[in-house]
Amino acid sequence: MRLNQFFCTIFLIATFILITTMIFNGLYEASQNKLVRNLSQRYPFKSQRTKEVMLLVDRADFTNEHPYADFPQQIGFGATISAPHMHALAIDLLEPVINEDSHILDVGSGSGYLAVCFAKMVGSNGTVYGIDHIEDLVNCSKQNIRKNNADLLDSKKLILILGDGRLGYPQGAPYDAIHVGAAPEEIPKALIDQLAIGGRMVIPVGLAGEQQFLQVDKISEKEVRKQVITAVNYVPLTDREQQLQL
Ligand code: SAH
Repeated sequence: MRLNQFFCTIFLIATFILITTMIFNGLYEASQNKLVRNLSQRYPFKSQRTKEVMLLVDRADFTNEHPYADFPQQIGFGATISAPHMHALAIDLLEPVINEDSHILDVGSGSGYLAVCFAKMVGSNGTVYGIDHIEDLVNCSKQNIRKNNADLLDSKKLILILGDGRLGYPQGAPYDAIHVGAAPEEIPKALIDQLAIGGRMVIPVGLAGEQQFLQVDKISEKEVRKQVITAVNYVPLTDREQQLQL
């Protein structure tokens, strides 16, 4: 009996320490405000616009699984919603090329989180296209967006498309900004072709375990400048069958 009480006490103390540590590490923040505040302490936002837009878009609309934790979460069909610090990095890098009337392509739009952020950064003449190759995910992202941002879909400022993102979406090109949320082995040529001169793409490239997040700036019709930003770990930009393991 005493031994039981001893172990019970140890267990309670250990649980208390674990939960307190998680809270103090900011890993399980309980609101979008706290998540963004915590992110800005650990990965200072380059741009105030990034911080502002992430405050406006509640991650809890896009995942039920620990929405305010700085981790990627499974969203089904072999996909994940990226970690908030990766969303912040992508927005920060693309922010300089996003204006009122920008055309933006989000390849592998998944949950829809980033596509909404981009749509909130453009004006009434701007358009954001999100493309994903899994129909259930496209439908699910529309439901997520309708929770608090239905106006973006109704006004067609944000358009979600079912298709192979490796081919881009020529109908909306040229794009001032392209975000790719899944990693190809090499940058798809169609995406470079569809980038506007002066436009910027951010894309994870490479096989699992050796992926790099690249910033690609299109200098002229024939010239792009690539810059390695950081090592990353994204799901592959691949065939539908491969992703669903059919
Ligand atoms: N930025 C998204 C990331 C989703 S995970 C988010 O944070 O929610 C990557 C997404 O890429 C998945 O939804 C997956 O279905 C999609 N994807 C993978 N290969 C693709 C392809 N060839 N064409 C379009 N989408 C693809």
